[in-house]
Amino acid sequence: MMPNELKIVRDEGEGISHDSSLTAGALAWHAQVLEGLLRHLSSSPDGLAGAEAAIRLAKAGRNELREAKGIQPFRIFLRQFSGLLVWILIAAGVISGVFGDWLDCGAIVAILVLNAVVGFYQELSAEKSVAALKRMAAPNARVRRDGQVVTLPASDVVVGDVLELEPGDLVAADARVIEAASLRCNESFLTGESNAVTKNVAQLDLETPLAERENMLFMGSSIVAGVGRAVVVATGMSTEIGRIAGLVESAAEQGTPLQKRLESLGRSLVWVALGIVVLLFTLGWARGLDLLSLFMTVVSLAVAAVPEGLPTIVTIALALGVMRMSRRQVLVRRLAAVETLGSTTVICTDKTGTLTIGEMTVRELQVAGCNFQVTGEGYGPHGEVLLQGQAVKAQYAGPLLEMANVLIGCNNAHVVLNDGRWELSGDPTEGALLAAGHKAGGNKEHLERNFPRHHEIPFDSDRKRRTVLRLMPDGRLRGLVNGAPDLLLGRCCNILTGDGVRPLTDTDRHFIADENNAMAGRGLRVLGSAYRDLPVQSGAVLTAEEVERDLVFVGLAGMYDPPRPEAKAAVAECHGAGIRVVMITGDHPRTALAIARELGIASAETEVMAGTELQRFSDGELADRIPSLAVFARVTAEHKLRIVRAWKGIGAVVAMTGDGVNDAAALKGADIGIAMGRSGTEVTKQASDMIITDDNFTSIVAAVEEGRGIYANIRKTLQYLLATNTGELLLMALCLILGLPMPLLPIHLLWINLVTDGLPALSLATGPLERGLLRRPPRPATERMADRSFLFTVALTGMSTGLTSLATYAWALRAGSGDLARTYAFATIVLGQLLCAFSFLSEVQPVWRLKTGTNRRLCLTILGTLSMQIFLFHSTVAAHFFKTSPLSWRACLGLALVSLIPLAVLEIAKMVRVATTGKSQYSIVAVT
Ligand code: ADP
Ligand code: MG
Repeated sequence: MMPNELKIVRDEGEGISHDSSLTAGALAWHAQVLEGLLRHLSSSPDGLAGAEAAIRLAKAGRNELREAKGIQPFRIFLRQFSGLLVWILIAAGVISGVFGDWLDCGAIVAILVLNAVVGFYQELSAEKSVAALKRMAAPNARVRRDGQVVTLPASDVVVGDVLELEPGDLVAADARVIEAASLRCNESFLTGESNAVTKNVAQLDLETPLAERENMLFMGSSIVAGVGRAVVVATGMSTEIGRIAGLVESAAEQGTPLQKRLESLGRSLVWVALGIVVLLFTLGWARGLDLLSLFMTVVSLAVAAVPEGLPTIVTIALALGVMRMSRRQVLVRRLAAVETLGSTTVICTDKTGTLTIGEMTVRELQVAGCNFQVTGEGYGPHGEVLLQGQAVKAQYAGPLLEMANVLIGCNNAHVVLNDGRWELSGDPTEGALLAAGHKAGGNKEHLERNFPRHHEIPFDSDRKRRTVLRLMPDGRLRGLVNGAPDLLLGRCCNILTGDGVRPLTDTDRHFIADENNAMAGRGLRVLGSAYRDLPVQSGAVLTAEEVERDLVFVGLAGMYDPPRPEAKAAVAECHGAGIRVVMITGDHPRTALAIARELGIASAETEVMAGTELQRFSDGELADRIPSLAVFARVTAEHKLRIVRAWKGIGAVVAMTGDGVNDAAALKGADIGIAMGRSGTEVTKQASDMIITDDNFTSIVAAVEEGRGIYANIRKTLQYLLATNTGELLLMALCLILGLPMPLLPIHLLWINLVTDGLPALSLATGPLERGLLRRPPRPATERMADRSFLFTVALTGMSTGLTSLATYAWALRAGSGDLARTYAFATIVLGQLLCAFSFLSEVQPVWRLKTGTNRRLCLTILGTLSMQIFLFHSTVAAHFFKTSPLSWRACLGLALVSLIPLAVLEIAKMVRVATTGKSQYSIVAVT
């Protein structure tokens, strides 16, 4: 890259004489002679061979920091016995054992074990999937293998690998710098020094303290500026950060706000349940019921009344949803983001590569006052430069060649011919420039040979330009600059014309600005090219400011990057879902508007604001204007942050995309920071809440849909659990009040709680997404999960299941046997609740319009649960335990019909609700 920056000091035989100093943890990497160090590591500036790296990886293990606290199954198992309810249950078991009621005691023990096993299994799989998610979003590293630069998971990096570094990269392991050009690095987490440190290749004294080891890079630090190469000397737990224990532990994930809220809800429900239970106990006591069986009943009721499995079910719902999202190109880094996604009201998105395809082709060149057409597709060098359809005359060959030299000479893209296709590695913008340069007569190999690269001032989206310094044959330096034309023009004072270089006049400036605007208005992304011959020799120290001024303007290149065909539909979907789409781009306002028009994001110029204009507004003024704006152009990272803040200031929930290092602040500031998987830097990814692996806008919309769906599923689950528990409480309470014997035995309650409530709830939580999620307005972020309609449904379900089973119970009691009546009650409540689960599948769609595929898992669960129930009624052993009597077919049929009543009631209520609130909330949905 920068051969003249690479100073390999001859190994004088010192420094590396005793190998043990290298391996025995002396860690004197910074004090070694570089060449000797490379030899010791059996590496070279060109990196390792892939095969060798694989051997090293197998030997040394992955480059990972061991988590202080991994998954501990035994702990998870113990945790199953920790809740208050479980203790009550254990006490109940002991008491019934003491009083010699072995049947109850055995049943309770069985239930306890079953409960623990199910809970253990659920929690273990939840933790496993969360851990898997963490791995998926792990950082990458760019490494030289077999002489090629490849991108790998950082965990695959081995000692001896050569890292390629540029701004925004995270350093994947501890490494010694072997090349550095203005390389600056932030290692505050290690040294406490918040300013970036400049790195170089010089050999250092053995005593140099860690913070001053300027030739070393440490795992986890980030590259702030410049480019470089470094050879890995330590990985995983042998790195500096790996040696600092404890730091890793702090990375432990906290529960999401929803999880925390539900947990505290669970805790308050425990007290509510205990209150009710104490009340019932007193009531039963006053009626003179048998105290022991009364006690057992209320304890089981308490256990049944509290949805203690909820937190685990929520974790599973979140984790599964997140897995599903990963199949839709969305990696979630913070679980809490999933909840926020569902209430997103504004998506601020990048243009290039996200709304557009991101495959660019230069269509027009503006050189020496003429507009040339460029033919040929793709990144290959084949194509022509034409002037009004004709071959270019000789007089233009000179300026075109100069243009080509800037396009190619200031360019980090590489293309290789693979199976007849030119494949690009690098920035698509630069790939397009490279191809155009060749079509205009340039030649990369020739250029690299005759004008070697000396230094680079990298591109970033705030500077909007890149400069490469090349060494001319006469020993002087030439700076080649590509960048945003409107900004570049201000730095030019000369212009290259058909007759050579002359001063730039105002007429020239206007002409160029007009041409730029016209090209941008045609939807082209326009870059300007310029150069400057520096009056100094190669040894001098120069700042970027000194290089990038008094430039000679050469020309414009206009490239076409078509909108993604699917993006238009996705934008329309957002609008239907009540979500604003805002385009934020570093590109020219006209280019931005042209693309925004095609996608339906904006229609008028008044909806566009340029960064320079934004700068003039105060925060207050911006907040006033912001709802009417749909496109922000020529922005910097700082503007992005202001846009996020302005939207948030007026109560919006904002998702914001970013790719550059500087975007990290805006991503942190947004409610949901979205990093780009392909174009995004590692630092941006680390600052994000989620990563879109294909950089595609459609995936953001998919994520919103999933977010809504996951929330809806959790809500349904909570609703179902509370509703069924209410039913059981009501049945028992009414019987106590009416002076009837207890309809459900403790074992019935425990069974219902675990099996017939628990399993359908689990499938509701993990079921597929409801249809029409993107046809409703976003859920207000402040909305409580248990709103009016939620509580109404809970009460309605509880009442209808409770009352129908009370009715069958009372009817059978009058006819005679207590056992038979209990069986009636048991069957009715179980069946009623199971059937109700179908109604919970959708808040708006009637049951008969749900496709059978909508929730196959729920259907299967219910079938399974039902057969268990039937088996329970038919097996003599189970009948002994559950004290049930056999049912006749007629009775079965009758009970089944009665059990349909709660479902019917719920469906009627649903229809009424949709009809009354239809206009505002559900009308669009109900159409499907
Ligand atoms: P966006 O991704 O929103 O299109 P960028 O930040 O990538 O915006 O680019 C902003 C501007 O910077 C572009 O309009 C272009 O003028 C300039 N630019 C982009 N890429 C390069 C590059 N590789 N070299 C020089 N200039 C560039
Ligand atoms: Mg970009």
